[in-house]
Amino acid sequence: MIEQASKIALDHYGIRGQVKSLVGYDDLNFLVVDSEERKYVMKFISGENPLELLLAQDKVLEYLKDDKSLEEAFPTLLKTKDLNTFKRIQTSDGRQYYVRLFSYMEGEFLANVKHTNDLLFDLGQFLAHMDKRLLGINLPAIEVRRLEWDLQYLMDSAKYLPYIEEISKRRIVGYYFLQFKEWIEPKIKHLRKSIVHSDANDWNVLVKDGKVTGILDFGDIAHSQIINELAIAIAYVAMNKDNPLAAACEVTKGYHSIFPLEAEELDVLYYLIASRLCISICKSAYSKTIHPENKYLIISEKSAWDLLEKWIEINPISAENAFKETCDFKPRQPIDHSEFLERRFEHISTSLSIHYDHPVKMEKAALQYMYDDRGNTFLDCVNNICHVGHCHPKVVEAGQKQMALLNTNTRYLYDSLNDYAEKLCATFPEPLNKVFFVNSGSAASDLAIRLAKTYTGCDEIIVVDHGYHGQTQTAIEISPYKFLGKGGKGKAAHTHIAPIPDTYRRLYKTDDPRAGEKYAEEVGSLMDEVKAHGKEIAAFICEPIIGCGGQVVLPPSYLENVYSLVRKHGGVCIVDEVQTGFGRVGSHFWAFEREDVVPDIVILGKPMGNGHPLAAVVTTNEICQSFENGMEFFSSFGGNPVSCAIGMAVLEVIEEEHLQENASKLGNYLMYELTKLKEPYRIIGDVRGAGLFLGIELVKDRGTLEPATEEVDRLINGMRRKGILLSTDGPFKNVIKFKPPLCFSMRNAEQFLYEFENSLKTL
Ligand code: PMP
Repeated sequence: MIEQASKIALDHYGIRGQVKSLVGYDDLNFLVVDSEERKYVMKFISGENPLELLLAQDKVLEYLKDDKSLEEAFPTLLKTKDLNTFKRIQTSDGRQYYVRLFSYMEGEFLANVKHTNDLLFDLGQFLAHMDKRLLGINLPAIEVRRLEWDLQYLMDSAKYLPYIEEISKRRIVGYYFLQFKEWIEPKIKHLRKSIVHSDANDWNVLVKDGKVTGILDFGDIAHSQIINELAIAIAYVAMNKDNPLAAACEVTKGYHSIFPLEAEELDVLYYLIASRLCISICKSAYSKTIHPENKYLIISEKSAWDLLEKWIEINPISAENAFKETCDFKPRQPIDHSEFLERRFEHISTSLSIHYDHPVKMEKAALQYMYDDRGNTFLDCVNNICHVGHCHPKVVEAGQKQMALLNTNTRYLYDSLNDYAEKLCATFPEPLNKVFFVNSGSAASDLAIRLAKTYTGCDEIIVVDHGYHGQTQTAIEISPYKFLGKGGKGKAAHTHIAPIPDTYRRLYKTDDPRAGEKYAEEVGSLMDEVKAHGKEIAAFICEPIIGCGGQVVLPPSYLENVYSLVRKHGGVCIVDEVQTGFGRVGSHFWAFEREDVVPDIVILGKPMGNGHPLAAVVTTNEICQSFENGMEFFSSFGGNPVSCAIGMAVLEVIEEEHLQENASKLGNYLMYELTKLKEPYRIIGDVRGAGLFLGIELVKDRGTLEPATEEVDRLINGMRRKGILLSTDGPFKNVIKFKPPLCFSMRNAEQFLYEFENSLKTL
């Protein structure tokens, strides 16, 4: 190739010189140095480009250089001996190219110099000068161009998503694609358009003496939204910065000082910057499979990824406000929360509780992050409903598509009911193979009790103290957490409370190898008592880790022993997996599997639809048959096609993204690190749980176990101020519950541990 370039230089440009290869993205680039040390850049541009486009680029370059203040900012295109601006050639591999020769521009690449605020401001001004000039030219060949690098066509790159190997990256990129499609694409259609350079990346921008002096490579030239010029430049200079948003604001300020931006453009800038990073990541992923040898194709990959991971931690509202303040527009004014609360209470009962001393008004959410109305970002460490991540693109898309196709009920036949039931049941051990779909954990608890009563013909239910199973009448009756709590009406006659097998607070401790058996004996005695009153047991219901009771882990062999006693008494064993299921505990898909038991009925809810109201009861054929007694079971919404599509997507995401493994890895890490904190911080009484379902119990005194309720409350409110969402539970409200979406990352775990330890210090 070098020989051919050298020959072209001589034959067609009359330049005898040394030729060296330069890196390039799509083009082949060469440096030509003649005998008098004059330098040129020769480009082989793919012959697949339309000639009209090349000629249009020449016109733009010429037009820009006609402006005296910009003359030196762009390379000069040299003509061949026969006065052409290009030469058509074929290389030895048979590929067609246009050859073009440019003057060499002196200077350092922006990528290689320190980015002072002045330089970033100057970059903004430089681009603004160029774009202002570009307003005066339009060329059809550029207008019709549809280039994947052009931000307005972000969705054209969606096809590259599968090439992103690392799932955590694919998920975030997918999230931004979704935001773009739903919120940004419709808005940018109305923004100002013009010809833009569209590739002010730091390897195209030249700097001399702390000033931007020029820009190279018009290969991505496009007729696009003017704001995209700025977004693209920012995407690169914000890389490798401690405060990427501050860097972005400097460039924006410079740009705005020359070529005023509009408020609507600043509204979407945050997402357009992310869009460029997404395109870059997608293209790198794809290029790696096509040209594994070309390292230039992935030059920005790591930095782009690092930035995107930081970018998603920035509340888009705070970015929008920062850009607006930079350009002297009014930022969004958050509303007065006390007025907002007043409005809420006009129609919403005060019996619905609200988190925190100062409530949070949420505006958006992204995977494991939530964004409030004041520009704060929260790391969600408590939402086990948005199991695979808030607004997970695959789950949202599944729901949207099915909603647009068909939504009906189980009285008709449709694929998704069969498909989903099959996939869901496959996650259970035999003989659990029948499923009833409903819409809430409460409805599932209610149905589970009905099934148990119908199957056994008995009424008595054994529950575990502090347990919670839902808010329907039946569910309340089996929830000591409610009926013995504030406002509770006490125990119903057919409910019997077994003491909680708490190895931290109660009689038999964690280090007692027979604790499980001994606590099981308590359940046995209770059932004997019930029997002595001439009553028969229908069911025993318990969570495999008791959530509302304070994340209480069952001692080994407890469930095994209890189940065998319950069955001896003719009852069925119900396990409530509403909080613990779907891989959360890491080692197993269902938390009951940790206990080496197979229940007769399983209640599912919360994570099942990732926030879509989807719940179920899974049971055996035998119990199911006993229910087929002539009375129809029908739930209007239960198992509808939209719910099934969403449920299916959730199961697929758990698999594809190895979320159970992630829960296991991070859970073990957090358990280890939190347990270490017990040594210096005496207030930590106990750390327990499994996978990403953990509890940290705080006590004032390790001897008396006096609950540190007030301290926990302070800690939770303090963590919220640090941007971390947690909750508390347990009979004394002194157990911190940790149950984040399963896409939680190591970076998140470290942030949590850091802030948690800091908060402990303040107690
Ligand atoms: N069971 C358990 C263990 C729960 O935690 C809950 C809800 N917190 C329910 C059942 C009831 O689920 P839902 O709120 O969907 O009715």
